[in-house]
Parts: sequence; C-alpha cells; structure tokens
Amino acid sequence: ALSIGIVGLPNVGKSTLFTALTKRGGLAANYPFATIEPNVGIVDVPDARLGALAKIVNPGRIVPATVEFVDIAGLVKGANAGEGLGNQFLANIRETDAICEVVRYFSDPDVVHVDGRVDPAADVDTIQTELILADLASLEKQIPRLEKDARRDKELQPKLAVAQRLTEWLDEGNRAATMPMTPEERDAARDLFLLTMKPIIYVANVDEDQVTETPAPINGEQPIPVCAEVEAELAELDEAEAQDFLESLGLERSGLEALAQRAYQVLGLQSYFTAGPMEVKAWTIPVGAKAPQAAGVIHSDFERGFIKAEVASYDDYIENGGEAGCRAQGKLRMEGKDYVVQDGDIMHFRFNV
Ligand code: GDP
Repeated sequence: ALSIGIVGLPNVGKSTLFTALTKRGGLAANYPFATIEPNVGIVDVPDARLGALAKIVNPGRIVPATVEFVDIAGLVKGANAGEGLGNQFLANIRETDAICEVVRYFSDPDVVHVDGRVDPAADVDTIQTELILADLASLEKQIPRLEKDARRDKELQPKLAVAQRLTEWLDEGNRAATMPMTPEERDAARDLFLLTMKPIIYVANVDEDQVTETPAPINGEQPIPVCAEVEAELAELDEAEAQDFLESLGLERSGLEALAQRAYQVLGLQSYFTAGPMEVKAWTIPVGAKAPQAAGVIHSDFERGFIKAEVASYDDYIENGGEAGCRAQGKLRMEGKDYVVQDGDIMHFRFNV
C-alpha cells in the first residue's frame, strides 16, 4: 500500500494527529485479518465515485483506496550530530513513498515550542537541514564504494556521476528532488535511496478557527491545513456526529482525508474500479499504468497471465446504468496489454492461471 512517513519537530502535534489516525472506525472493517504495526495508521481516500457505483451494483461492501501513515519519531534538531539519525528512524523513513511533515501553526501559549516561538518557515528549515545532512552522510558512505565498483563496471558510472553532483547540490542546502536531472539520472538517483528525493507534503497544524483559511506557503508549497485536536475529536465520533461537527466548522471532509487525497495527487496516482455484487473497490495505480500492471495490483497472477480487459469508462458506466447497459450500447471495450488505464475505468480482467 501507499505509505507516508509523518515527521516533524517535537510538540507540533504529530502524536495527536497519529492517534486520530489509528482510532478511526473504517479500519477494522476493511482489515479484519491484517496485523497493523503500532506505528501505522490507515486512512481511506474519499472518492464520491464509489458511492455512485454502489447505487448501480448494490454491492456487499465498498472498499476505498487507502493511504498508510507511518509515525516516524526521532527527528530533532541536531539529530545528525554524534550518533546521527537513529537506525530505526532511517529504516522506517526509507520504506515510505513520501514524507508528510507536520508544522506547528497553532498559537496555544500553553504548548511549549522547542525553540520558544511559532515560526513555521524556520521549523521547516530545521527539519530540511537534518534530512539533507542524513543524505550527505549516506552519499559519503556510498560514493567510495561506487568509485571502486564503477572502475570494473562501466554501467555504474552514471550513478556515480549523479551521486557526486547530488553531493554538491545538497551541500548548498537543496533537497535532492529539486536537482535538474534527465529521466535516466533520476532513475539512478532513486537507487541512492535519499530521504530528500521523496516527495514532501506539509501539514499546517492550525488553530481550530483557522481550518478553513489558506495557510502561507512554505518552500513554495501549499501546506494542507489540519487541526490535530479537531481530528482527534472527530476520531471519537460516529459518522453522523462527525459529519455534523465538520459542517459546524465549515468543512466538507476531515483534514486527514484531504491529506490522503493530496498524497494521491503528489505521487501521481489514480484509481480504477472493480464492481460486482460482492464489492465495489478502488485500486491504486500510477498514472500511465497499462492494463497488465493494473491487473497485477489485484494479484500478481493476473499480471503474469493477463489476456485482456473488459473496460468501461466511468462516465459510460454511470450513464448506461452499469455493465449490461454498457454492453448493450457498445460501450464495453476489449483492451489488450498496451491499454493505458484511465482514471475511473471500471475493469474486468481475463487471465490464464
Ligand atoms: P508531538 O511531539 O509532535 O507528537 O506533539 P503532540 O501531539 O504530543 O502535541 C504536543 C502538545 O500540543 C499536546 O499538548 C497537544 O495537546 C497540543 N496540540 C497538538 N495539536 C494541537 C492543536 O491543533 N491545537 C492546540 N491548541 N494544541 C495542540
């Protein structure tokens, strides 16, 4: 599943937000047999199309796409000095697809700020410095090995070259992801497993009366306003109560859901659907994925034995009242292995076992 690591300075509201994540209802229903690590919380990606599809097929259940949030403790100023970032920290964060940084915007004077003032831009700088230092330390270890190996294996030379350029780039205080690179260089850079290559999403933990405002941008990025305390309260409510509470705040959905949705965008992901009497389900694929890759998300056998896919576009499916209607109107297409799946497609795979 898509996973996102939550980082931030101490006392910015990470635990509050994370507790809200892990307390949410939907979880147990969709993952009855999964063992979920204590530092993992799962959030549904809201998608109104699921409800519309369910009206047509009346499924036993609706299964939305999900995003997994991983609580990554241990990032403080100076973490790189001495021991460096803890191994556990690095191991946890390396496995995530993106980083979500919680930044304190809320003013509450009763909550002490580690540096004695509320200054989102400075906090972001502090964390960025730690991540950059961790990447530099990692490159410092990788480069001598690469130099040695590249002498024997010429194919490693582009990777070595990009590692050296990245060292300079990071040294100037930049994130690896922002370095101009050709697609080949980018692939090589990904192989270096740097923290600052990961997409980053900023969450502005704002006061309750600020949740509908647009927070000031950080590093040119628009942070997502969330009030961790509100999220914690929402997590305790049943669905109807939560809806009322959200409305009273002037919100359409919770901050966590907005965050899950943004993560999808940032990571270039989209959904296709399967729809039947058992369930209507959203499946996550990268934009540009072809039919066999999409099938592989359901099961690797589906990808290996892929023959073809029966596809209806979302609009056709809704307009014609489902699969039978689409078939009658010639709107059910047979697509082969080169078909590029479109967002919202309703798919049915044929495969060899
Ligand atoms: P962490 O160290 O980043 O995990 O921060 P915590 O979640 O433990 O929060 C630190 C303190 O800030 C706690 O006392 C929280 O109750 C408080 N806090 C967290 N989020 C908010 C918020 O949105 N508004 C206010 N006023 N206080 C908050």
